Amino acid sequence: MSDWTRLSAAALAEKLAAGEVTSVKVTQAHLDRIAAVDGAVHAFLHVSAAEALATAADVDARRAAGEQLHPLAGVPIAVKDVVVTKGLPTTAGSKILEGWVPPYDATLVERIKAAGLPILGKTNMDEFAMGSSTEHSAYGNTHNPWDLDRIPGGSGGGSAAAVAAYEAPLAIGTDTGGSIRQPGAVTGTVGVKPTYGSVSRYGLIAMASSLDQAGPVTRTVLDSALLHELIGGHDPLDSTSIPEPLPALVEAARQGASGDLSGVRVGVIRELQGEGYQAGVLARFEESLALLRQAGAEIVEVSCPHFEYALGAYYLIMPSEASSNLAKFDGMRFGLRVEPSEGPATAERVMSATRGQGFGDEVKRRVILGTYALSAGYYDAYYGSAQKVRTLIQRDFDAAFAQADVLVSPTAPTTAFKLGEKLDDPLAMYLNDVATIPANLAGVPGLSVPNGVSDDGLPVGFQVLAPAKADDRLYRVGAALEALLEKEWGGPLLDRAPELEETR
Ligand code: GLN
Repeated sequence: MSDWTRLSAAALAEKLAAGEVTSVKVTQAHLDRIAAVDGAVHAFLHVSAAEALATAADVDARRAAGEQLHPLAGVPIAVKDVVVTKGLPTTAGSKILEGWVPPYDATLVERIKAAGLPILGKTNMDEFAMGSSTEHSAYGNTHNPWDLDRIPGGSGGGSAAAVAAYEAPLAIGTDTGGSIRQPGAVTGTVGVKPTYGSVSRYGLIAMASSLDQAGPVTRTVLDSALLHELIGGHDPLDSTSIPEPLPALVEAARQGASGDLSGVRVGVIRELQGEGYQAGVLARFEESLALLRQAGAEIVEVSCPHFEYALGAYYLIMPSEASSNLAKFDGMRFGLRVEPSEGPATAERVMSATRGQGFGDEVKRRVILGTYALSAGYYDAYYGSAQKVRTLIQRDFDAAFAQADVLVSPTAPTTAFKLGEKLDDPLAMYLNDVATIPANLAGVPGLSVPNGVSDDGLPVGFQVLAPAKADDRLYRVGAALEALLEKEWGGPLLDRAPELEETR
């Protein structure tokens, strides 16, 4: 295997800038790696080799001509299939969008293209981002590179697996309830859900608009900061986009890498540990707290008493918004259209036939749940109550952030479970998100950094949360912990993952 797939994005960027390698060579190395291992991993739904190589060649030519380029120019990237890409198929993991090629780019894709990052392809995901295992994809599941019999997390399992398997140094994910952070945790990669409004949602196929955020999936904290700075910042096409510049994220990551956290108050969330959390997950968490303390951080315990209702509130608000957002997939405008098997093709019959065939079971379950929660007579009892709980969770965060600069918890309660293990038990699947959902409900940013392996030898994540618009704190604390842990391990956690067999 070529070394070019083993380097971080920051290291690749340096070598590209120094003329030690071309983007064509780096991009080809990643395409070769995809060809060699993706048969086993299935991280990609679509590989855009020709387009990626054309971008790479263009960047190489511009660099040769002395043009001033973006620092990440020429570094390849993979994009979750819920993000629309002009000219590249976009399915959101659903049969209802099979064959659809968007006529426009999401804002974040526009920024990636303008900076000259070759797009390797579109990554697998749970249908419409509903799931925690990528098993709800209509196109087959993705496998965890650490153990091919296990789930890579979800919904963005494809992006995380691609990065963990060295198929891409950078990837884009989206996080509505944990879909960047939980896959990061179970694959030993870094995942960041930015502050709500930090990254434009224009061109994301919406799941739950008040919760959705796109963000980076990478192998290092610094790489996430570099990518976040590239895709983030105000966008007039998204009315919820924050009309302010981003904090200095890359600078914070570089500062954190020194490993000094003097004066930083770290709040441990009492409610996000204990029952339901695997022993090895808790043990690694405690060890990392000790490291942070040694680095000069002050560790305090905080209580967020309403977090216990977060999952319940999420599973009312998210399906309610999703049922409304998904109404546009009606067989009339784009994607799949199914003619009714009998009788005249009235609008209602076409819609019912199309949605009946085009949506998978999990999507149907949530559309039904959401429609019910929003219907007259139930609205106050369900959707209305959930919104009140959301306010209480925001207040919990406010109180906790008055005592601490960042809050921390395990990212996910367990390591990667076996494929198929929770497929018949939606509640067990939903419970995977207990620690990640509160951040989405409150709009605050969260980062998951690799935190060693549990007793079963599988990766565990450490979650850092910060107040809204203070994403820089995530990068400072995340980079510090990463540096301290890698010093102990003698290298990145992913070095411990078994080598994947390369076949062609
Ligand atoms: N696993 C959560 C769910 O199924 C979160 C999904 C997401 O963040 N897109 O809803």
